[in-house]
Amino acid sequence: MSADGQSVTIGGRSIDDYIAMVTEFHGTFAPGLLLGGFMAEHAMKNLPPGEFFDVICETSHCLPDAVQLLTPCSIGNGWLKIIDVGRFALSFYDKRTGSGVRVYLDHHKLKKYGEINDWFFRLTPKHAQSRERLIDEMIRAADGVFALRYLSVKKEFLAHRHGGPIVLCPGCGEAYPSDHGERCRACEGALPYND
Ligand SMILES: [Zn+2]
Repeated sequence: MSADGQSVTIGGRSIDDYIAMVTEFHGTFAPGLLLGGFMAEHAMKNLPPGEFFDVICETSHCLPDAVQLLTPCSIGNGWLKIIDVGRFALSFYDKRTGSGVRVYLDHHKLKKYGEINDWFFRLTPKHAQSRERLIDEMIRAADGVFALRYLSVKKEFLAHRHGGPIVLCPGCGEAYPSDHGERCRACEGALPYND
């Protein structure tokens, strides 16, 4: 790890410790976990005033795991939601007022960081990538590759979902929330199973 790695931290941990923690959780190390760690930290440092924050991740790749390790928000507790529009971005917002902050990767700023740029845009063949150079550059860049804007989340999205009745689906016979419709979403083709 570079000398920079000693002074830069994520979630109060050294970069080495963060990488070890996130690698164990994720199963393998991916550069997006490091970039995601910096991104989540940057969002938290710039939160508008408020007490309870939820998170939206705009990609299902890597970023959600950084959020789950660095915040109390998880998929399971519902405070982290993935809306996979394929953008490397996340928003932290106050779950009562909806006001929040969105942090995203700014491709203009990537011009100064060739390793990150070429990795992100998949310009370097995997076998030609130097993980060490990429990690060093991410540490050097830290939050310098992100842009940030304040936003508000739609009221409908904030509305607390009270559990409605659970009924049996006439298609498959399994229980599902009745507010999904006449039949469960699986019977409407939502799952990729062959049978
Ligand atoms: Zn069904």
